[in-house]
Amino acid sequence: MSPSVSHSPPLFRPDLATLEAARSAIAGTIRSTPITPSADLSHRLGVPVLLKMEHHQVTGSFKLRGAANAVAGLSQADKDKGVVAVSTGNHGRALAHAAKAAGVRCIVCMSNLVPANKVESIRALGAETRIIGKSQDDAQEEVDRLVAAEGMTLLPPFDHPAIIAGQGTLGLDLLDQAPEVETVLVPLSGGGLIAGVAAAVKAVKPGIRVIGISMDRGAAMVESQRAGRPVQVEEVASLADSLGGGIGLDNRYTFPLVRDLVDDLITLTEVEIADGMRHAYWRERQVVEGAAAVGLGALIAGKVEIHGPVAVILSGGNVDMAQHFRVMGGGEA
Ligand SMILES: *Cc1c(COP(=O)(O)O)cnc(C)c1O
Repeated sequence: MSPSVSHSPPLFRPDLATLEAARSAIAGTIRSTPITPSADLSHRLGVPVLLKMEHHQVTGSFKLRGAANAVAGLSQADKDKGVVAVSTGNHGRALAHAAKAAGVRCIVCMSNLVPANKVESIRALGAETRIIGKSQDDAQEEVDRLVAAEGMTLLPPFDHPAIIAGQGTLGLDLLDQAPEVETVLVPLSGGGLIAGVAAAVKAVKPGIRVIGISMDRGAAMVESQRAGRPVQVEEVASLADSLGGGIGLDNRYTFPLVRDLVDDLITLTEVEIADGMRHAYWRERQVVEGAAAVGLGALIAGKVEIHGPVAVILSGGNVDMAQHFRVMGGGEA
């Protein structure tokens, strides 16, 4: 009998040469985001705490790194036919922008349950939109049709080598800016970000620790790692909405990379995520979405074992401002 897929080594692990190539490929598209010490958390924890301000990335999240790298890696023939995605969130925004910057046609498919402002913001970034049916599955059918009938390329949000390598450039940048870092806190959903970042920082500094952080309900990667194979989880509404969704039962790349490269997984309650958002605002003067606040939330909740300087990735800022206002109304953490 062949060994089960989940125990075989990763099919892809970006090495330094691949990550450096990704960094050059996306240099003209992305912004270099600052890393800033948090005086408050450094004082509280007794070690330097550094915030990687990736919520200031173009399109509001790190996802532009992966999308730009994946578009850059297409053959001219594939660029001529264009790219498609199903995401309504940060991946859709990033792909729309990356494709437009490269002069590549982009269609983002979504169901008619998606709010009009989200559809409009993807259109404003230069993508065509197709509103199909009542569910994500209906939208996926239209994507499959565009791939089969028009030869367009589907670029998924995380389980793809070029996406993982693109997200990994954030790890290279982080250690260039702060080589003293010993622990990196990374928001975790499908695992493209943490797989890329872990591969990058461990290639440069093998002893560094990488910790993934998710919400405590509906965290597909965390549940899958506990089960030892990709599993489906029920989706639950969360302040960290960008961390929702499955990892795919046919996950190929990110499940084994997370298993092999991530040192620890932490989960947070909704109150702890809100505390992270409030800390970002009141103490750091930063507006971040719930998904981006989980590193701060984990530190404030005392859930991270501290050994030396810590970097916290603030992964995105695309929060509904009315929701942000309501969370801030809960006062300072
Ligand atoms: C997509 C996303 C994440 C999670 O990234 P994965 O690669 O899916 O693990 C975290 N934060 C924000 C803001 C995101 O958009």
